[in-house]
Amino acid sequence: MKFSLDNRTALVTGGGSGIGRAISRAFAASGAAVIVLDLDSDAGTSVAQDITGNGGVACAVQADVGQMAQVRAAVELGAKKMNAPDILVNNAGFTRDRSLTKMTDQEWSGVLSVVLDGAFNCTKAVLPAMRSKGWGRLINISSRAYLGNPGQANYSAAKAGLIGLTRSNALEFGKFGITANCIAPGLIDTPLVRKMENFDQMAERFAANTPIRRIGQPADIAAAAIFLASEHAGYITGDTLHVTGGRYG
Ligand code: NAP
Repeated sequence: MKFSLDNRTALVTGGGSGIGRAISRAFAASGAAVIVLDLDSDAGTSVAQDITGNGGVACAVQADVGQMAQVRAAVELGAKKMNAPDILVNNAGFTRDRSLTKMTDQEWSGVLSVVLDGAFNCTKAVLPAMRSKGWGRLINISSRAYLGNPGQANYSAAKAGLIGLTRSNALEFGKFGITANCIAPGLIDTPLVRKMENFDQMAERFAANTPIRRIGQPADIAAAAIFLASEHAGYITGDTLHVTGGRYG
């Protein structure tokens, strides 16, 4: 069984780095044309160039996913260069960790804006074309942190909210041939987590406490995304696929 994405166009937010970059590359290698959306236009362009340099089809568009007008313009531009997206991966995200008592309004709303508003804005922008085609895949990158993490009230709330958004979308748009699912990664080796203090010790501790004795790689998430985006996952919707090496706590 091959998980082909031939003749599909995918939009990947935060596609310029880490998990988004791995998903963009893997989708292109599976036959999709990829619109790489990122806040950092150099990073998005570099991923798109890397894909085209390897014989794939891709373009880069720049937007802050939290800003609806920017999202609409980027989706329109991407659709002009490629096609209207059949697959959307809401992946853009960041952390602003702090104990709730010290968390600033900006740290709270900044994370909710990119994770939740971003997913809302991008989903809204791509849905009309998916509905008219009668086919679509909405894939939201949540996190194991949706179960709660000390110092991550903003991030946990946003990632749990993403699961509610996904389930509602699954119920609302299934009749149009559109599925909506979440991937909840555990600790994945990306620039986001490498910025953390004591990354090496933390990674070692995580690996030791994970049934599959290692932290995750972006390719682990890309493999799950390819499956959910493929024809073969057409009867799976409203679900959350945990890619955590078996670690939930
Ligand atoms: P990453 O390497 O930092 O990549 C995230 C990308 O998103 C960056 O290119 C970033 O651009 C972009 N971005 C940030 N804010 C944006 C915005 N407002 N609009 C458009 N693009 C924006 O992080 P990652 O680890 O790959 O994370 C990807 C997703 O996986 C996130 O949603 C994260 O919460 C989730 N996740 C990660 C892990 C993990 O352990 N790594 C675990 C669970 C879930 P800039 O560099 O310019 O900010």
